[in-house]
Amino acid sequence: MRQSQGIEPGGRAGAPRTHTRYRAAAMLAAGALILGACTGGSSDGSSGADASAGGGEAGGYPDAQITFVVPFAAGGPTDTVTRLIAEPMATELGVEIVVQNVEGAGGTVAAEQVANAEPDGYTVLMHHIGMSTAPTLYPDLPYDPTEDFEPIGLVTEVPMTIIGSPNFEPNTMEELLAYVEENIDEVTYANAGIGAASQLCGLLFETATGLDLTEVPYDGTGPALDDLLGDQVDFMCDQTTNTAENIQSEAVKAYAVTTPERIEALPDLPTTEEGGIGDVAVTVWHGLYVPGGAPQEIVDALNSALLVALQDENVISSLADLGTAPVEQDRATPDAHAEHLQSQIELWRPIIEEAGVTAG
Ligand code: ASP
Repeated sequence: MRQSQGIEPGGRAGAPRTHTRYRAAAMLAAGALILGACTGGSSDGSSGADASAGGGEAGGYPDAQITFVVPFAAGGPTDTVTRLIAEPMATELGVEIVVQNVEGAGGTVAAEQVANAEPDGYTVLMHHIGMSTAPTLYPDLPYDPTEDFEPIGLVTEVPMTIIGSPNFEPNTMEELLAYVEENIDEVTYANAGIGAASQLCGLLFETATGLDLTEVPYDGTGPALDDLLGDQVDFMCDQTTNTAENIQSEAVKAYAVTTPERIEALPDLPTTEEGGIGDVAVTVWHGLYVPGGAPQEIVDALNSALLVALQDENVISSLADLGTAPVEQDRATPDAHAEHLQSQIELWRPIIEEAGVTAG
């Protein structure tokens, strides 16, 4: 993996702004969005709350605004999923939820911030597969994903797609592999930093092809996609929650999806297996976390609100449009989440070590 020299991520003027409605909505509300809970509150009728953070005691949790921390830039796939479930969760919990984007270091800056936050249930982290790759990628990671957090539950598993900029020459996976090999010093690959899903996919692509990509890191794949749409970078691998609409509208070149079977939302998009690089197989699981030591009542309250949100019609239909779905209820439990995190850490460690990639 080579880092790009002199390519300023996202800085290029004139990069066309987004045109996907979910992202447009997210961009409008970039930074912080208050998802108000109707005064009716949750099904038990408890009333909405004041703005200041709660008293820390679990009794009567929640009684104040909750912050959902997203480790990547607004408008990207992790941000989109977070905003989708935050709304029904706010209604269920009867308080406001603010979405805060804390970018940097492939998601580890946000994770460290939440690991060190008060375990009072008012700071919640949304993170993904990056939670399981960071321990191997960052030898000096300042937190332990399995010790410093209480898992709340898995949310969704999102397929990834390999896409190219509108004017990028290759039109098929076969052409992409040949073109990248022939132009390896010129071709650029965008990702959201070491620890991001887009970086992991790039790592799998390099391992499967033996090609050493020039990677351009961004604070999120939202801004990366903007630059790709503006032909500022050549190709990337990103979640359907960020790419599906651009692929459906043929605004980008599309080469493959990283799932064993083609997906309903993109029936004409071949799999990486069909494209001859079947080892590039990954779906991006997402889950919610609170700081370690948070009382069980808080974990239970957030989990039950999550279970309701995952059955919400708007969440189900929106995720389907974006090529994915909520996880099954029995996988959205704290225990199932903790087990999945542990098994993923063990799955990715040897693959990352084999690739010889570490941060810093
Ligand atoms: N989740 C994306 C990634 O890891 C980044 C983002 O959400 O913006 O690549």
